[in-house]
Amino acid sequence: MTFPPSLLQSASCQMVNQQLGRILIVDDTPTNLFVLSKLLTSAGYEVIQSSNGLEALMLAQSHQPALILLDIMMPDMDGHEVCRRLRTVSATAHIPVIFLSALDAPLNKIQAFRSGAADYVTKPFQTEEVIARVQLQIELRLARKRQEQINVELEKRVNERTQLLELAHSQMLDLAQSDRLTRLPNRPSFLRRLDNVISHSQDDPQTSFAVLFLDCDRFKRINDSLGHRIGDQLLKGIARRLTNLEQKHVEVDMVARFGGDEFGILLVGIADQTAVTAFAETVYGILSRPFLLAGHNIFSTASIGMVWGDSSYASAEHLLRDADVAMYQAKAHMHLKYCWFEPGMHHLAVKLLNLETGMRLALQREEFEVHYQPIIDIRRMKVVGFEALVRWRHPVEGLIPPNDFIPFAEETGFIVELGAQVLKMACMHISDWEKAGVLDSEITISVNIAAEQLLQPSILSHIQHCIDSAGISAHRLRLELTERALIGDHELVDEILQALKQQNIRLSIDDFGTGYSALSYLHQLPVDCLKVDRLFVKSITDDPDSLGIVPLIISMAKTMNMEVVAEGIENSTQLNQLQKLGCQYGQGYLFHKAVGADEVAALLSTPIYSWLEPASD
Ligand code: C2E
Ligand code: MG
Ligand code: MG
Repeated sequence: MTFPPSLLQSASCQMVNQQLGRILIVDDTPTNLFVLSKLLTSAGYEVIQSSNGLEALMLAQSHQPALILLDIMMPDMDGHEVCRRLRTVSATAHIPVIFLSALDAPLNKIQAFRSGAADYVTKPFQTEEVIARVQLQIELRLARKRQEQINVELEKRVNERTQLLELAHSQMLDLAQSDRLTRLPNRPSFLRRLDNVISHSQDDPQTSFAVLFLDCDRFKRINDSLGHRIGDQLLKGIARRLTNLEQKHVEVDMVARFGGDEFGILLVGIADQTAVTAFAETVYGILSRPFLLAGHNIFSTASIGMVWGDSSYASAEHLLRDADVAMYQAKAHMHLKYCWFEPGMHHLAVKLLNLETGMRLALQREEFEVHYQPIIDIRRMKVVGFEALVRWRHPVEGLIPPNDFIPFAEETGFIVELGAQVLKMACMHISDWEKAGVLDSEITISVNIAAEQLLQPSILSHIQHCIDSAGISAHRLRLELTERALIGDHELVDEILQALKQQNIRLSIDDFGTGYSALSYLHQLPVDCLKVDRLFVKSITDDPDSLGIVPLIISMAKTMNMEVVAEGIENSTQLNQLQKLGCQYGQGYLFHKAVGADEVAALLSTPIYSWLEPASD
């Protein structure tokens, strides 16, 4: 009698230990099915049964047994065929099969294994043998499954690692091409792009391009005085402003950071050199606006070198080198914002490179001299002071004016040593003049103090030391500070200025009007005098419209109880206008240029009116 498989299955399922697995028994002899089923269910397996090959194939697919016990001798489809078919369907291909074979039937073991059997059992069964072989196959299958899982897991990990490696690789590529701080392309990327543009221009001479090389002025000072964090923020701010330009001007092909405080801009398709100059002016303008960083108003101008693209350049390196040289020229000249490259500049660049070493040697060799330009009370026409102005008496080049080396001295920090030396010399000169009775009680000597010098921790003690060792009165001394020196760290600057006031030293703001000081802030500072920059004096003519902001500065200084010195008076028209405006003091070539310390006594002994005669200048 044959039991319907579904019945047997549901009956046996109740007793099953699902953990051990499901076994499909295929045999056309119901007794065998019954015995085996009983044996295996009582051993803890879930059993399903079939009495023919076709049904067995379907059950194997739908129930996915862990093992199949398969009779070889069956009427419609024998075990070998069932086994072969199982192997051809992927869902059943891996289910292990144990062949059942009666002892009297010839068992071709080799053929059994060929058709895909994993093992075989001969009838009549030995129960222990059946259980042992079934168990072995189930364990083998489990082990295989675990192995497969491990493989899947391994493959997953390998994929993850590969993805990580790819990510790291692309980040490295990114790092290799861009600057980490500002995320702008770096120098190698810029050079690559520029090389492409150069070779493109060799094929198509219509391609116009230009390079701007930018370097921030006094970046080192900002970094040193306010810290690297603020320095970094400033660089990021500059990068942001330059990137904004990239969006507004189609000609901007690339903005890059070369490192430190150097940036580059590549312009492609720009009309002509005039358009490049106008663009440089825009760049200068946007970088001159203050950066508000951590509560500080930071001012940072840039020096810009420009090169007009030329297909004759052999490489981007050469072009960039020329832009760098032009930038150095702009930096070396105090009042140049930008500069075009000219072939003759190379030897100048070499000269500039030697400048710093030269300046240090010059200090040791005492080649720096202080000259003095008289400051006049233009209402009484009387000398009330002198401004100490440094010069470098170079053994080969002759007398070098400060504009040719002060910007470099500021950039490299050498200004601190140089400024200290100037102050010391000025105090010694005052002492000599006092001893010789050259100075009347009203005369003061103004010494320029650079921003970096003012912020030196030792500045107060150094000034006091100079005054004491020269044996002069602090009252004789005035210090000229630029607006830039005052706008850095407000609290610190205020502290230093208050201490200088305590020392009875008078303070002037030099080149007033060219910086960006907030007037409300200046008002709080203990400053005695504003020096109107000669840029404003220069434009004064008979025309009242030419006076510009000078009347405003004068009246503002009066309200703040400050003195005003007009710088750079070169003609009597300017003098007359300034007198009419109520400006009290002035200096300029109309009166006298700066003279050597040993000429001061003679100068003071001649009346000012005699200087004004044309022959005297
Ligand atoms: P400054 O402090 O504004 O000095 C005035 C400059 O204007 C001087 O140039 C002076 O010679 C020039 N000047 C005076 N009257 C006229 C005039 O009528 N027309 C024209 N065109 N120029 C006139 P100088 O001596 O070449 O000095 C240039 C700058 O170098 C100074 O400008 C100052 O900023 C800096 N400097 C000079 N000596 C020192 C120093 O010892 N320490 C520091 N930190 N800076 C110094
Ligand atoms: Mg000055
Ligand atoms: Mg000045």
